Amino acid sequence: MRIEDPKIIGALSELNVELRRSSLAELTSLAIGGTTDLLRIQKHESIPGLLSLLDSHGVPHRFLGGGSNLLVGDGELPWVVLQLASPDPDVVLEGNFAQVDAAADLGRTVTFCAKHDLGGMEGLIGVPGTVGGALRMNAGAYGMQIGSYVREVKLYRAATRQIEILRGEQISFEYRHTSFAPDDMMLAVKLELPSKPFKEILQGIRICNEKRRSSQPLGQKSAGCIFKNPPGASAGRMIDELGLKGLSVGDARVSDRHANFFVNTGKASANDMLALITDVRERVRTAFSVELEHEVVIWNA
Ligand SMILES: Cc1cc2nc3c(=O)[nH]c(=O)nc-3n(C[C@H](O)[C@H](O)[C@H](O)COP(=O)(O)OP(=O)(O)OC[C@H]3O[C@@H](n4cnc5c(N)ncnc54)[C@H](O)[C@@H]3O)c2cc1C
Repeated sequence: MRIEDPKIIGALSELNVELRRSSLAELTSLAIGGTTDLLRIQKHESIPGLLSLLDSHGVPHRFLGGGSNLLVGDGELPWVVLQLASPDPDVVLEGNFAQVDAAADLGRTVTFCAKHDLGGMEGLIGVPGTVGGALRMNAGAYGMQIGSYVREVKLYRAATRQIEILRGEQISFEYRHTSFAPDDMMLAVKLELPSKPFKEILQGIRICNEKRRSSQPLGQKSAGCIFKNPPGASAGRMIDELGLKGLSVGDARVSDRHANFFVNTGKASANDMLALITDVRERVRTAFSVELEHEVVIWNA
């Protein structure tokens, strides 16, 4: 979608929102996706005005974090993409609390806190993307999830059209699922992290890094796990048991290293990746009577 109306373009510049033509293939870790206008937001305060501007002109939108859990459709996309620009500093520490902007890089946040003897998030090392995306997805690994440390979230709430602060206990964080409404935009979070000596945290980080290196196709274009694990089972193990590692549609391929990672080995289209996902889901359903749920977020229409 291309914004051409001079009234909207003028209002965007008054709101200090930068408008940029963008290819989502360049903004996502799968390197798949068509073209649209990207709106980069400099200040949280401009968001209510921006969203009412877009709504009043019938411009649909999606929120983009780091693009590491997204499969985006091909061609000209029927919505614009909103992305927060990162303030400086994006992490402020006070005792055991870390106040973090949603645009902050997740890995950098984990190491920054670690250097100040604040731990707990070691498992998130190696999870790409932003803190906002991690909050929305309740990112986690190796027995931990970010939701356990959330004390407050600052967000734009679609229901009230205002920026609000929710306390941790008002939000439910489940396995790769949160109670935020689909149109809520994460702006910042206050985390409470346990004190731990840096050396101890570093040791935990090294262990998690090693586990990832030995099991995941880290140099390849992927969006992490394609499917959620069904209760008590492993999606990757089921796909592996069916001998589907290496199964391909065009350049979309089930990783030879981790059967729940699907990689783009060259110029895979969204349709290639979607066809591969559908094929694998059907085979798992037939063999195990299990309906796999996507973990990757699909922006297909
Ligand atoms: C190599 C690799 C390894 C991975 N390992 C893990 C892992 O171990 N554990 C795990 O949980 N995930 C993992 N992932 C998936 C992914 O990194 C996480 O889901 C990550 O938290 C997504 O963050 P993001 O900023 O990239 O979000 P995006 O991919 O940009 O967006 C994901 C979803 O969040 C929404 N969103 C993003 N920012 C905001 C915001 N500010 N407000 C509202 N909604 C927003 C988007 O609209 C979209 O629905 C992995 C991915 C890769 C490529």
